[in-house]
Amino acid sequence: MTRKAPSLIIGNWKMHKTIAEALSFVEQFLSLYEKVAEFSVGLAVPYTMIHPLAQKIGKDHHLMIGGQNMNDCTSGAFTGEIAAEMLQDAGASFVLLGHSERRILYKEDDAFINRKLKRAVQAGIKPILCVGETKIESSEGKTEEVLERQLKEALKDIDPKELGKLAVAYEPIWAIGNGEAASPAIAQERHHFCREILSTLLNKEMAEQIIIQYGGSVTTSNAQNFLAEPDINGLLIGGASLSLDSFLQIVNDEYSKNQQ
Ligand code: PEP
Repeated sequence: MTRKAPSLIIGNWKMHKTIAEALSFVEQFLSLYEKVAEFSVGLAVPYTMIHPLAQKIGKDHHLMIGGQNMNDCTSGAFTGEIAAEMLQDAGASFVLLGHSERRILYKEDDAFINRKLKRAVQAGIKPILCVGETKIESSEGKTEEVLERQLKEALKDIDPKELGKLAVAYEPIWAIGNGEAASPAIAQERHHFCREILSTLLNKEMAEQIIIQYGGSVTTSNAQNFLAEPDINGLLIGGASLSLDSFLQIVNDEYSKNQQ
């Protein structure tokens, strides 16, 4: 059985909240959550909130702030884009790459995601690479083919030694934002498959240490079922991370489990 890496619970706020709402959420979260060394918690927020939230959190807390996307260049004439260094300058320590909403709505392909991943690695910001199949791909039995392609293309020509900070999020697109989460057993099967692919691209030892998060309609009721699976090392949470109560409960449930 695969050795579990520590949990990584990340909320993805997408295009939600004002700065005032974000500050209030984080202030309450910091006063209520159980500070943990055993696992990491983070929020991927809109760009405008990165700096104020990072300032508010300071260095004492185990709450990371991250971006939801970045460009593959360091600077230049790329209207509307943001560089890894800018995210870091604002206080972000991680970035989501290849989220399905970026792939589908903004036509980001595997080659672009590979260039972004290379840039993130060079800049030293933690990349969270999102992969996952559509409903059609799933019903046509193409899930493994899609996951293998997305992982191989994203990691192409990157020295495995540079990938120490990498995390992967398996997010079946058919399970995102609709209340129809994958079953923990199916998610476990897919995570195991991703880890097998990672062990061919990196090496077995590294692949066992890589955090693979599950994302897709995670709630307070199903979060612990996913985290009980041997290859599921964390969660990427959309809708349920927008509410302080549900995000806090998911985090504190995981803390309580780690204390037992
Ligand atoms: C996501 O967008 O990454 C996500 C998993 O959303 P939700 O939890 O709302 O399905």
